[in-house]
Amino acid sequence: MKPCVVDAGHKPVQKLFVRNGTDIYQCPDCGCLMADIDFNKAQYEDNTYYTMSLISKEEIENKWALRWRYVLSRIVSIIRSSGSSSLTLLDVGAGNGYFVSLAAGEYGFTAKGLGISSEEIQFARDVIGVQLIREDVTDHQGNYDVVTCFNVIEHVVDPQLFLAALVDRVKPGGILVLSTPNTICLRARIRGLKKWERIDPPHHINLFPGKALRALVKRHDLEEESYETLSTYITIVNTRNLILRRFFFHFLKLFNLGADHFLIVRKKT
Ligand SMILES: [Zn+2]
Repeated sequence: MKPCVVDAGHKPVQKLFVRNGTDIYQCPDCGCLMADIDFNKAQYEDNTYYTMSLISKEEIENKWALRWRYVLSRIVSIIRSSGSSSLTLLDVGAGNGYFVSLAAGEYGFTAKGLGISSEEIQFARDVIGVQLIREDVTDHQGNYDVVTCFNVIEHVVDPQLFLAALVDRVKPGGILVLSTPNTICLRARIRGLKKWERIDPPHHINLFPGKALRALVKRHDLEEESYETLSTYITIVNTRNLILRRFFFHFLKLFNLGADHFLIVRKKT
């Protein structure tokens, strides 16, 4: 197994267990979880993949709107506090395109989204009404006030290289917004890592506790603006009741126990 993906100078990684036939390792220094597997692009063409598993815009809104409106309101408040009037946004790994559609339609961004799957791009166009660009971030030209990348960094083999490509797309003084599964979220704590569903090779390759994610971004020219955790919906409660969902969303956020890290960093000028 390779050294820790957060910092090769960390102590040698230790094998934890085998999941889906793949060895899972953990760094004793930063706690990062690593699956000993390569990236397989073809799996994201499958139309049963989760971003396309909901079939109507209403279903997608019901599941995701609370989270993405909260994220966009945080981004807007941070951008506004810096006095920036320009509002360009690039979403890397735009999934079903719903976030790009909200950013442009409700929050005034000139928003673009990158995807790697032709199936997803077709889904985004037909179901959400957004035209995404089929391109890797390393090939994309242009600089943006805001670059967002939600639940993608855990899918790549080398998060440092990927992060460098994201940072390249941010204007100096602009912000990068990341989310990725939280290895110390409430669900992981209750179930234990051995039963935690987010360890699911070949999809997720590297998973981070907050400490490891922050160590990762520290190695780039970035200053932390905000760190919180987010939940989409609570499967333990499994409710469609919006008031209850809102309560759990904010309750888990209060204790940083939400399912995903939500980190906003600013590129140094
Ligand atoms: Zn480490």
